[in-house]
Amino acid sequence: MTERSGDAPAQHYGGAFLDRASDRRFDPAWLASAMAHDEARYLPLWRSRNRFHPGGHGATALPGRTGGDLQAIADEVVFLGVAEGRPLFAIDLSSRESEELQGWLPAGEWQDLRRFGPLLDRREAAWCAYARGMLHWHRAHRYCGHCGAPTESWRGGHVRVCTREACRRQIHPRTDPAVIMLVERPATAHSPAQCLLASHQRLPEAVYTTLAGFVEPGEQLEDTVAREVAEETGVRVERVRYFASQPWPFPAQLMVGFRAVAASVGIRVDPEEIRDARWFTASEIRAAGEWGDDASLQLPRADSIARQLIADWLQRSDAQR
Ligand SMILES: [Zn+2]
Repeated sequence: MTERSGDAPAQHYGGAFLDRASDRRFDPAWLASAMAHDEARYLPLWRSRNRFHPGGHGATALPGRTGGDLQAIADEVVFLGVAEGRPLFAIDLSSRESEELQGWLPAGEWQDLRRFGPLLDRREAAWCAYARGMLHWHRAHRYCGHCGAPTESWRGGHVRVCTREACRRQIHPRTDPAVIMLVERPATAHSPAQCLLASHQRLPEAVYTTLAGFVEPGEQLEDTVAREVAEETGVRVERVRYFASQPWPFPAQLMVGFRAVAASVGIRVDPEEIRDARWFTASEIRAAGEWGDDASLQLPRADSIARQLIADWLQRSDAQR
């Protein structure tokens, strides 16, 4: 892998493909002129679906004039930043029936980003993920969690504020950290190196992927890695090392990737979450198919950090041969 983000391998849906221009969010006059600018672009979203050109060949970005006109019927408009010298916004049209929007939008389709995301270049994937994540946060925080009054968007859509005078609590966009980890078992004199992958209850049966889980309050990320691996498979781990992270706005996660070394090898799965977990050799993984084909063993999606963790392990096992 050649692309890197800092010291870590770059991930699909991540990367700084725009200037978030956070100082401009504080300037209402600048924001108003940016919204009306002919060169502005708007990424439309409808009920958590991004808009794509037919067949998923690129994301639809509406020109400034159309975006400006649509604001009157939009649920929310969020300033994403300045991309390639042009202001970029996300616009949520969820309250409208899709027929109402036909005349405004070029040919294409509303689709879950998970469907077409892998077809996008990294720049468009990052913009679409950011837009989806921000608009999901807005929809989920329309009321103040403290007093129950409605909230309103502020600072280009990067803060919501409680409308009750006596409260005025501010809410900031949230990302939920989750860890995702590849557990490896080094080669011995009698057996090749192996890694631990599992078939998860929430995924198709043939897909074997890394373990993952949400961080709980009071946990250091490394603690979560050890706890989740033990809970889901009964395996104990040591030497937990950071790999890379990936925004995963489905709906609001940040996946923090780790590698860990097994300190025990016996597997006892938690059937609530895991159908089956096994130790795989590099050659078994190389023979696996892709998500959605008819192979009896399939790898996780190409756009996921899970896949990058597996690719990294394969590369390192090759290097050690
Ligand atoms: Zn309030």
